[in-house]
Parts: sequence; C-alpha cells; structure tokens
Amino acid sequence: MTTAPATRPPAPAGTPEPAGSSPPAGPGADVAELARRTRAFVDDHVLPVERELVVAGRHMDDDVRVDLQRAARAAGVFGPLTPVGLGGLGLSNAGLAEVLEAAGRSLIGPTAVNCAAPDDGNMHLLAAVCTQAQAERYLHPLLRGETRSSIALTEPAPGAGSDPSMVRTSAVPVDGGWVIDGAKHFITGAEGAAFTICIARTEGGTTMFLVDQDNPGLRVGRRMPTLDHSAAGGHCEVTFADCFVPDDAVLGDVGAGLRYAQVRLAPSRLAFCMAWLGLAARAHEMAAAWITGRSSFGQRISDHGMAQAHVADNEIDIAAARALVRSVARVLDEEGLASSGARHGAAIAKTFVAEAVWRVLDRVVQLYGGLGICEDHLVARFLVEARGFRIYEGSSEVLRASIARRVLRAHSSPAPISPEEAR
Ligand SMILES: Cc1cc2nc3c(=O)[nH]c(=O)nc-3n(C[C@H](O)[C@H](O)[C@H](O)COP(=O)(O)OP(=O)(O)OC[C@H]3O[C@@H](n4cnc5c(N)ncnc54)[C@H](O)[C@@H]3O)c2cc1C
Repeated sequence: MTTAPATRPPAPAGTPEPAGSSPPAGPGADVAELARRTRAFVDDHVLPVERELVVAGRHMDDDVRVDLQRAARAAGVFGPLTPVGLGGLGLSNAGLAEVLEAAGRSLIGPTAVNCAAPDDGNMHLLAAVCTQAQAERYLHPLLRGETRSSIALTEPAPGAGSDPSMVRTSAVPVDGGWVIDGAKHFITGAEGAAFTICIARTEGGTTMFLVDQDNPGLRVGRRMPTLDHSAAGGHCEVTFADCFVPDDAVLGDVGAGLRYAQVRLAPSRLAFCMAWLGLAARAHEMAAAWITGRSSFGQRISDHGMAQAHVADNEIDIAAARALVRSVARVLDEEGLASSGARHGAAIAKTFVAEAVWRVLDRVVQLYGGLGICEDHLVARFLVEARGFRIYEGSSEVLRASIARRVLRAHSSPAPISPEEAR
C-alpha cells in the first residue's frame, strides 16, 4: 500500500483532496489489488473496443470514452487521480505507477479510467493553482469525467515549440479582462473539450488563461493528421482571434505561466511513462506467446537464440523502465511536484522510457515478422502510436540538454582544474 505524499500543492478550498496527492482509495485500500482490478477491467472491457478501433482504422472518440468510463465506474477503477470524495481512487504518484501501468496495457485504457493526457496534467495544474470558483467550474467536472480539457502552448513556426519562451500568442489587458490573439497547433483533445488552458505572452512574461470552448473568439480548426489515433478529440489547430476573457479567467498569477507549466510537467511526463510502460509490457507478452506458437527451420522461433535475445532485451528494458518510474514517483510524492529532484527525475525517466518503449515495440514488430507491419495488426499500431512519445512532453534532445544543464550547474568548477586535481 502506498502512503500519502509528504508535500502536496495548495488545493483550492472545496476540492476534497488534491489530485495525485491524496491518500490511497479509502481505508485499507490496496494498490496492488486496484492494479489487479484495473488490469482485469482492461482485459474484459477495453481490449475488445481497442481491437475494433484498430481493425477498423478508427480514431478514439468521445462516444467510446463515455461508454468506457461508465464501465470503469461500475468496475470500481475510475479516476486514479480523482479524489475519493469525487468518486475516484485518490492515488499517490507511487500508487498511480502501478495502476496506470495496468490501464496503459491498452492504448485507450488511460482514457477509460479518466487518467489520459492532457487531462491528468491539467488536473495536477489546476489543483495546484486555481481558485475555489475555478475549481468548481473547471477542475471538479474534469475529475468526475464529465468534461475533457486541453492545453495550448505549441505554435506554428516561428512560435513556441521545444522552446516555450518563444510564445507569440498575445494577451492584452482591456477593461474587465484580456483579449487573446494567436495560433496554436497539435492541441490534444481540443475538439470536444470543455475548456482550453491557453498560454499567452503578457507584459513581462507568459500567463495561463482558462478559455471556455464556446468562447466566440476560440476556433478549433482541423485535426492534424498525426500518426496516432488514440487521443479523444485528436490533436488540433486552435486559433484565438480577438478572444475576450474576463479577469477571473487568469489561472494563478499574471506572468507566471511558464513557472506553472513546470508544476504540470513532472507528473504529466511520469504518467505518460507509466501508461506506455503498460503497453510495452503487453506487447512483449504478446510477442513471447506468438513466437512459441510459430516455427521456422524445424523448431519454434522461441527456440532460436537470436529471437531469445530480443525477448531478453525487452524484459531488461521493461524492468529498468519500471524501476525508474516507480522510484521517481516516490520522489514526486516525497518532495512535491515542483521540486528540482522531481523535475530532474521525471526528465530522466521520460527520456529513458520513451526510448526503451520504442526499442521494445520495434523488437516486438520484428518478432511478428510481416504481420507486425500490417496496419490492422495491434503491434504495428502500437509502434506507430508510440513514436510521438519521443517528441511531445519534452523531446529526447531537449530533455537531455536540460538534464546535462542541471548536472553541470551542480558540478561546475570555479577555476580550471589541473590534470593532477582531476585524478
Ligand atoms: C501527438 C502530439 C501531441 C501533442 N499535444 C500537445 C498539446 O496538447 N499541447 C501543446 O501545446 N503541444 C502539444 N504537442 C506539441 C509538442 O509539445 C511539440 O511537438 C514539441 O514541444 C516539439 O516542438 P516542435 O514540434 O515545434 O518541434 P521543434 O521545436 O521545431 O523541434 C524540432 C526538432 O529539433 C529538436 N530540438 C529543438 N531544440 C533542440 C535543442 N536544444 N537541442 C537539440 N535538438 C533540439 C527537437 O528535439 C526536434 O527533434 C503535441 C505534439 C504531438 C506530436
């Protein structure tokens, strides 16, 4: 059983327990049992739907999400991050590591239990930053699975991408509020979301704004034709044109947008790792079963040493990724989401896990042979879906740069080191 975190973000009054930092689900709740139940729920209810979507080449959408979340509630596995008082499991990050890995065994499992991006990160962000009125209007419906949300930072060139300080979307103060203008793209879940957290440039920095989706100044454009199909609401172009929002739409302090983005990043990166790890583990098990039932050159493929090497390397990558994710989850719980230890750990985990998951899925495709390349085959879809993970939520290159910066800052020498001292 996991314990409640030592530090937690300040929650707006009226939030029963902040997302991701509340005690485990009820007295005596057992995380291992919740993970087992989540896995059984995924096997019984989610995998058949996933198979249908993949075979038909269909995208995940809200009708599917609503049905699956209803089933998740009935199975008692809804809302790993949702406080118990709002009908969820109220898990710590350490508890989440086990449960979200179980949900992540399906591409659409995290959505089915209401813990998929970008909502999970937005739950953390809102719980840490929003006012009571904002919590009632935006956070609580999100936690209850009544709504979805999106977060809009990335912009077409020359705007913000890897470098968030390049934000060009502007918000200008006017009588009673702000007017936002600018273009965003790749905004996950924007189609059908109830609101978008827009990050815009304001005097002296950037600021986050809560923009209702029915605001006449917000327009959701086309879904970008990305390789992945599993995000409800797709990844969309979004424009803000003469978009007026009242003063109470400001999330937190004016000018603190990029600081708040940091609060969101560590738990969000780690949650992605947990979910993708689940998918990699399932694909690995599928491949092991496949090669024990298929033969070549007079024996089972699983009897060939080179196939066994793929199996062993997958097992090693998965074990290493799991150990890393669980240890960083404990740091998040103990030191808080915005601590430098949590940020550094989450950056390391995200870089390693995104690349390990890719290696595992690529070996799985190899073990399946030609079938692994067929668009309607699950393992081919897994590989394609996973590719973006090395780009979004901090690309591998940008994360390596930030990891190296922290190391060099901590160990920089005030003066040149002589060869003798260096020994
Ligand atoms: C599926 C998907 C979902 C997404 N969802 C959202 C969302 O919901 N909201 C949102 O705001 N954005 C979202 N994004 C956008 C994502 O955050 C960006 O794609 C990412 O930050 C990279 O920005 P960019 O695409 O503009 O690439 P660029 O910044 O143009 O980078 C291009 C390449 O240059 C590399 N590079 C950049 N800087 C360095 C450096 N210092 N050193 C070495 N290499 C470097 C990058 O790693 C990358 O390989 C999503 C993207 C995808 C693919």
